[in-house]
Amino acid sequence: MSDKKNVIIIIVDAFRTKNTSLYGYDKVTDKSLSKIAAESLVFKDFFSSSNATAPSLTSIFTGKYPNNHGIVHQFPYTTEEEFAKLEENKFWLPSFLKSKGYETIAIDWIGLFFKEGFDYYEEKDDRKSNMEKLMEINVVKKFLLGLPNWAYKLGKSVTKARTSAKFSPAEDTMDLGIRKIKESKKPFFLFMHFWDTHFPFPTTPFDGSGKNDINEFLNKIEDKNQKEYFKKRVTDIGLNSVDEMIDKYDKSIEMVDEQIGKLVDFLKKEKLWDDTVLIVLGDHGTNLIDHKVYFSSSSLFDDTIHVPYVMHLPGYQGMKVEGFAQNIDIAPTLLDYLRFSNDSQMDGESLLKLVRGEKIRERVLFFDGLAGDIKGVRTKDRKLIVAKDNNCNLCKSNHHQWFEEYDLTKDSEEKENIFNGNSELMKFLDNRQDINKASEMAYLQY
Ligand SMILES: [Zn+2]
Repeated sequence: MSDKKNVIIIIVDAFRTKNTSLYGYDKVTDKSLSKIAAESLVFKDFFSSSNATAPSLTSIFTGKYPNNHGIVHQFPYTTEEEFAKLEENKFWLPSFLKSKGYETIAIDWIGLFFKEGFDYYEEKDDRKSNMEKLMEINVVKKFLLGLPNWAYKLGKSVTKARTSAKFSPAEDTMDLGIRKIKESKKPFFLFMHFWDTHFPFPTTPFDGSGKNDINEFLNKIEDKNQKEYFKKRVTDIGLNSVDEMIDKYDKSIEMVDEQIGKLVDFLKKEKLWDDTVLIVLGDHGTNLIDHKVYFSSSSLFDDTIHVPYVMHLPGYQGMKVEGFAQNIDIAPTLLDYLRFSNDSQMDGESLLKLVRGEKIRERVLFFDGLAGDIKGVRTKDRKLIVAKDNNCNLCKSNHHQWFEEYDLTKDSEEKENIFNGNSELMKFLDNRQDINKASEMAYLQY
């Protein structure tokens, strides 16, 4: 087994293409990643299968779309049925690699079923107990779902704790990762999850200038629920300028990127670089102030699902890879590259095919993990979003209409809904029943 390559997957939370120079941002937030890109495969059209963490990570570990692996919704909105369906999955990447002799290490903090298959799993005890409590107590669940004002003060400490104390800053996370690599037998599978880039970026040192345009900004938000929700979030970040909030997001990316650079330097110094697969990606993207969704990954606009994907594969030269790729492809790609056979059913395809210039799919699919029931399909030129239940669990407003279609050739920012009652893309989304239901609801709405 020792001739097998090591595997490192790095998740950068809420990481969108728009804020990296590698994908066209005019600010350089990704110095290390750009450097690695020269000797890596950079996928230009990589779309997460979900706008939320839990469904996305589950897609990575199963090779399946959320509706097929079970976990469609982010905790604590995941249903009993979704958990039950999860148990039907036969393939789970960490367990599979472990069965092939890999030492499996995760620094992920979430816990729950994500611990499955890992020899070592880093999570903070208080997070674990909080999470378990949150999952068990109905009143708390209701509180999280509704965030009504009266409960806000009461729950603020929980929210604060969730956003500040539950994971280590990027530097400590990477130091732990490197220490684990040093201690591990080879081959190893290291899964690392950086949360620093998730609003309100609590681990990122950033002093605001004292600029204050937040009230002006809040006044412009028309949707009452959105306004309330964002108001609450503003207290978490401690900044009063939207521009500075965006700057802080960029700074968080820079901070994580620097740590990725440190890892690569370490791997090279230890002569592990040529024996190690390194994958860096966003589990989902995020809206900043786009689409009237504020600093949240709610909605299925490209901002929340088009994510960076950089893969260093020993033996492969650096290149930009075109064509649709998704997180469901990661497991099949690793199996293909490491030459493991497996007969489990997966939705994904090996990305080595794309590298060879073969087409693997004409369209990508994605599921909203933060709203009742919304899914979308996107081709190069078009995108269709169908909402059976468009209530956002986080802010209680609606970020999508029952049907939305965008002509991406003319409207890459997805501003003008051109849905006119029917769409060629409809057939890719769901069974008839769902579509009829959605039509019915659309009809009721207008
Ligand atoms: Zn929302």
